[in-house]
Order: sequence, then C-alpha cells, then structure tokens
Amino acid sequence: MSEWILEYDGFDPEQERLREALCTLGNGYFATRGAAAEATASTVHYPATYLAGGFNRLITDIAGRPIVNEDLVNFPNWLHLTFKPEGGEWFNLLAVEILSYRQELHLKNGLLNRDIRFRDKQGNIFTLSTRRLVHMADPHLAAMETAISSENWSGKMRIKSELDGSVINAGVDRYKQLNSKHLETLNLGKAGDDSVYLVVRTVQSRIEMAQAARTRMFLNGKRMTPEIHSYEEKEVVGQELEFDLAKGKTFKVEKIVSLYTCRDAAISECSLAAQEAVSRAGRFTELLDSHTRAWHSLWRRYDVEVRAKDQAQLVLRLHIFHLLQTISPHTIGLDVGVPARGLHGEAYRGHIFWDEMFMFFFYSLRIPEVTRSLLLYRYRRLDAARAGAKEAGYEGAMYPWQSGSDGSEETQKVHLNPISGRWIDDHSRLQRHVNIAIVYNVWQYYQASGDMEFLVYYGAEMMLEIARFWASIATYNKKTKRYEIKGVMGPDEYHEKYPNSEKGGLNNNAYTNVMAVWVLERAIEVLDLLDEERRSELFEELNLKKEEIQRWKDITCKMTVPFHGDGIISQFEGYDQLEEFDWERYRKKYGNIGRLDRILEAEGDSPDRYKLSKQADVLMLFYLLSIKELQRLFRQLGYRFDKTSFRKNVDYYMERTSHGSTLSRVVHAFVLAHIDPPRFWAFFTEALKSDIADIQGGTTKEGIHLGAMAGIDDLLLGCYAGIETWGDHIAFDPVLPGGMQKLHLRLRYRGRWYELDMVKGRLRVSLGKDGREPVPISVKGKTYKIQPGKSQDFKL
Ligand code: BGC
Repeated sequence: MSEWILEYDGFDPEQERLREALCTLGNGYFATRGAAAEATASTVHYPATYLAGGFNRLITDIAGRPIVNEDLVNFPNWLHLTFKPEGGEWFNLLAVEILSYRQELHLKNGLLNRDIRFRDKQGNIFTLSTRRLVHMADPHLAAMETAISSENWSGKMRIKSELDGSVINAGVDRYKQLNSKHLETLNLGKAGDDSVYLVVRTVQSRIEMAQAARTRMFLNGKRMTPEIHSYEEKEVVGQELEFDLAKGKTFKVEKIVSLYTCRDAAISECSLAAQEAVSRAGRFTELLDSHTRAWHSLWRRYDVEVRAKDQAQLVLRLHIFHLLQTISPHTIGLDVGVPARGLHGEAYRGHIFWDEMFMFFFYSLRIPEVTRSLLLYRYRRLDAARAGAKEAGYEGAMYPWQSGSDGSEETQKVHLNPISGRWIDDHSRLQRHVNIAIVYNVWQYYQASGDMEFLVYYGAEMMLEIARFWASIATYNKKTKRYEIKGVMGPDEYHEKYPNSEKGGLNNNAYTNVMAVWVLERAIEVLDLLDEERRSELFEELNLKKEEIQRWKDITCKMTVPFHGDGIISQFEGYDQLEEFDWERYRKKYGNIGRLDRILEAEGDSPDRYKLSKQADVLMLFYLLSIKELQRLFRQLGYRFDKTSFRKNVDYYMERTSHGSTLSRVVHAFVLAHIDPPRFWAFFTEALKSDIADIQGGTTKEGIHLGAMAGIDDLLLGCYAGIETWGDHIAFDPVLPGGMQKLHLRLRYRGRWYELDMVKGRLRVSLGKDGREPVPISVKGKTYKIQPGKSQDFKL
C-alpha cells in the first residue's frame, strides 16, 4: 500500500459516509465531502460543501423551549453530475451491478479518483472514471473530470450537470429535530452556452454565495458539440447535454466550478466574480497542474516522514492533508477559527472549542502566519468575551466554550441522548478552561514565531483581559487562606455537577486552578515584555490597576489545589467522595463504553456519581507543562509534588478514564512516553486510528477529529523530537519510546528553518542557509551552536 494514497476497493454502502468524510477535499476556504457526484443526500450518501466561517442561526422549538442553534451551513451541492443512456435510467450506483469499484485519495496532490465498471439493468456495461479537485492555488475553484465509455452499447447519451441549492443541513441524525433549512435561493440562470450560475443566501447571517459551473465535453481531446438544454427549477439550476456515444469510445465531461461569497475581497459582486472565474478557468489538466504545484509547496513544509508499523506513515499524511484542507494559507486573513470537526461534516455544528490548543503547534512551526490569523479570530471577539464575562458577573474577558460567527456562546442548552431519546440539560458551557487554551495558544505562538508585534498589539490585551477574568472568578476563602474557583467544569465532560445537585459546575477543578495560576503568571510576564509606551497605553485603555496585579500575584501563590489519598491530585474538590465505577461490568455489558455519559443516562444513572472520566483532565497538566514547571508551580503554591507523584497520578487516572473523546489518547500517549514505552505505542496507534478506523463507531462520518489528528503531529514534535520552544532558543529532548525507526521533518522556529532527521541513537539537526551567525540550539540540556547551512549529529 502506498504511503501517499488512501485506497478503497469495492463499494460498501455502510461505510460510504465515513469514506466521504475521509475523502473530503478542501483548501482552507471551502471544502466538499468526498461524495459520489451522482449522489443526493440519503442514508448512504451525504454530499455537502462547507465554507470556512459560513454560519447561520435558526430557532427550533424543543419541548416548548425556543432553542437557537448556529450551524456551519451546508451550501449548494456543486458536484451533481450524472448520465443516462437512452432507454435506461439516470446512473445510480445502488441500482446497478458493480463489476469493479476502486476509490483513491491521492494525498500528494489532493486528487480524488473513482473508477467503476458496472452492468445496468439492460445488461449494458459501462466504465466510469472520475477525478476531482478543490483547488489549492485558487481557493475559489473546483473541478471534476468524468470519463465514460460503454463496452457493448451505442446510442444517445444524456449528461446532467447541476448546482443544487435545495440542500439542507442533514448530516447528523441527532440534530434531525432541529430546523435545518439555512438557504434561500436568490437568483439562478444561464451564464453563456456552457455555464450556469446559482446565488443563494443564508437566511439569518445573510451570507450570499454564488456558484457557477461550466460543463464541457471532449472526445479524443477535442471539444464536442452536444445538444445543450439548460433548465431552471426553484432552487436548482442545470444543463443536460445530449450526444451519440459509440461503443468502445471514451468521452470526457469536465465540470469546472467557481464559488464566491459576498464576504470575499477584491470582487465587485460575488455572482459576477463566480461567472467570470469559470469563463476564465483553464481545462481540468491545467487546473490540476497549478493545484499540484500548490500542494507540493505545502508538503515541502509540512510533510513528516516516519518509518513505523501500523500504516503510521499513510495515516499521518492523511492527518496532515486534512489539517491543511481545513486551515491553509488561504485561511490567512479570513475571519475564522478552527472547527473541531473540520470542514468535513456537521458534528458540533462547525463550532470552535479549546481543541485549537492541540493544533496550533502544527501550524505555528511551519507557517506561523496561519496561526496569527486564527488568533486574530479570537482577538476580534474580545469585546464579545468581555460582554460574556460581564453577563456572568465577572470582570475581564470570558470566551465562550463553543464559538461560531460573532463570539457569542454557541453551546447548546440541551442535547439529545440518542440512546435514551431524551433531551438533557447541557452544562458544558461551564468549561471556562477554554480561557486557558487561548492564553496558552497566544503564548505558544509568540514563543515559536518571536512575533513581538502580535504580542504587543493583540496578544497582550487578550492575555490581560483573560487574566482579569480568572482573578475575578477566583474567590478568597478566609478559612483556608486560599483562593478557589467554583462552579466550573474541567475538560472531563462526564462531570457536569455534584451528584444530586441541580446546579451545574464543580469546585476547584485542579486543571483549571493550576492553569489559571499559569495564565496569571504569563499575564504578569507579558507586562514586563512590553515597551514602556505600550504598557502605559494598556494600563490606561484597560483601566488596569496596580492593585489588580497585586491580587494576581497573590493568587499565584495561594490557589487551592485539592489532593486526596497518597499525593493524588483530586480532579475537583469532592472527587474522593464519589463511588468507584464497575468498569468490568459495563465493559462486559456494552463492549464499547466510550460514551458512558449516554449509557448511564439511559439507565437512569449519571456519571456525576462515579470516579470516572471521559478524557484526560488532571493529566492535561502533564501534557501542557513540563514536570519541572509543575514542580515549580506546586512549590510556589505550597504543595508537595515530586517525581513519584507524577507516576502515581498517571496510574490513578489512567484506570478511571474511558477515552470518550479522541483527544484523550493523545494526552495519555504523551504522558506515557517517558515512563511506559509499550503503553505509549498502544495509545499512539489507537489515537492514530481515531478517524481512519472510526474508533468511536460512527462519529467520523459526521466530521473528522482535527484535534486528535494534529495531536499525533504534536506527539512527534513534542515526544519523539522533544521540541521545546519556550526558552531563548529551540531545544530538543528526544525520546524514542519505540514503534518508530525514523523521523524526518522540517520546522520553522523564529524565522529560521530547521531540518530534523532522527534514527535510533542519533539526531541530526540541519539549519537553513539564511544568515551568517551561528545559532544556538540545545539537545538534551546542553547548548551547541550551528552554522547556517550546516548539520550536526547528536548521539542519543
Ligand atoms: C470533547 C471536548 C472537545 C469537543 C470538540 C468533546 O467530545 O470532550 O474536549 O472540545 O469534543 O472536539
């Protein structure tokens, strides 16, 4: 099996939606699921196109309550193309006898191919070969080439090519009761002999999108002149092309599509822009050339070569491919964040969570400008976060758990348990820790890029306002003489509240409290980094008081961290009072117990009662901060934490985690890298399989898990290469926990390219040619200097 091609032999209706998600093509501006061109939405297929930042709100009445949902909209289906031999039926894969079927996703140049040989009901044998791309050089273009021939039939053939604006959001069964008609058609028609256009608008957010499609036919490379009949329906526009097909001859149909919205730069009007773009666009092969070149540039920066078992190379590349299709250089300047499930499906409605924390290292260390743009998405929503804090009775800025168009809280208030069929109160918005992730991301970006201007003008303000929020949510307990944070949820979403309590939230979630201290420290540090002028400006603009900073300092020494047993950090206060969970019984009864929340709720029980976690919570501390850093923080807070505490906590929580989130295995692998190599590899490979094998049993078809995908790259950078970007130069502390014999990658750190080549026992670091002065790096704690353009080997 190639390490660049995802291959499927045979058609499997059960797996089709999963394949569609995994074969999505996109360019950071828009993406289209890898659905068959002839398909319309059904239980088997779900063709869908999503625009980065393309949200719309609709209201639905659920059990007498008006529920507002903001969705990533499924925009018109530009793919639709099918054919019919005279006397036969429109091609439908489910209604023919498939003689052979092969689908290939070419990662190197972003090409989706499908080759089918089939016999129709009349006994005629056809072959169909399609190639499809979503252009990586011109983000407004997509193209499809379809070659059709018949082995034993001649006659009149009809091709139908459409732009379908009648689509709704129907990709997730659980959301079926919610309103889903986001689009209204504004205009449609012919745009010259061989082209049509369609203009739609989202009903609430009023995003106008225009698509234009040019459909041409070729025989032996020469343009054919079929009879063309254009037609317009209420929400669909299309063309039928009729011609004589001779047995044994192969003709090609090229459908070139352009897509613009009213939010695009450098256009007069989106419909005009779309029509002009298709009339200007070259032929499929020309577009393929420029598209391939764009992908090659990306791979030069992003490819990671590994030698490892378990298809690791292919899957790793698949992850990089999807990360780059969701967020690419075309994203720079767009006002978007990273949707947790990519532009690949409708799960979580395209919302942006804390998952960005697992992804930004991936982008920052290759094209930092991309991360900068994503951080500006947060910066532009700082006022909304200020309003969020105020509304909740706090100071500073409190970003929402789920964010969409304008930075309001988009987390649902109720959600459907598909097992019990009940709508349940959802407290997950109490995950205030997203306000840790944002500061962490700003800081990490600054460390990796050295972009002081960003820090000065945008980053610092976000950090200070978020620090303010943490200082204001923290209350002082006179009895314990410590600060506390009450009424929040940690990353483990299984614990929403105390057993039998009506009120959501828990007290003193250890992850939140320790990281809030870290945030306050960084905010104090950033004040020191700013020049005098900007510092006074910010003090004045934000009305920041010296006493506030004093309080921040006080909190960083007196925050509560709950412990129980022998040095176990309690996930939250009162955790030790919970019951132990009977893991064996539930494993036996249900097999897959990833979603214990749903299982227990359906049984009339609740995970709130037990010592169990959906995902890493306390262990997140070990993922984000080094043991040295944690020891320093605990010392400062007056708690004992030594090397044995680390091991004890890992063992304790590992036994009590169901990994109901794909993020969890990434974190567990990371913490195990140093202490338990065989278990590291088990978690690593399981995390690697999250999407390709759909290990959650049906979630990937609703959208890939971008956090876990990037998390794998994070493990390579953070564990194998042991990259640390937080000092005044780059540091490597490689560990080779096994499973991998070779690692090769490039990365960009503070304006310089580094190339790493690792085999067992040896690390080679090569420095890009730019500059003259030797550059310091450190390997395993020792500092060396490398000359630009030179390599140095280090024994491990
Ligand atoms: C996880 C969250 C995550 C969200 C989006 C949930 O299942 O528990 O941590 O942010 O998915 O990926």
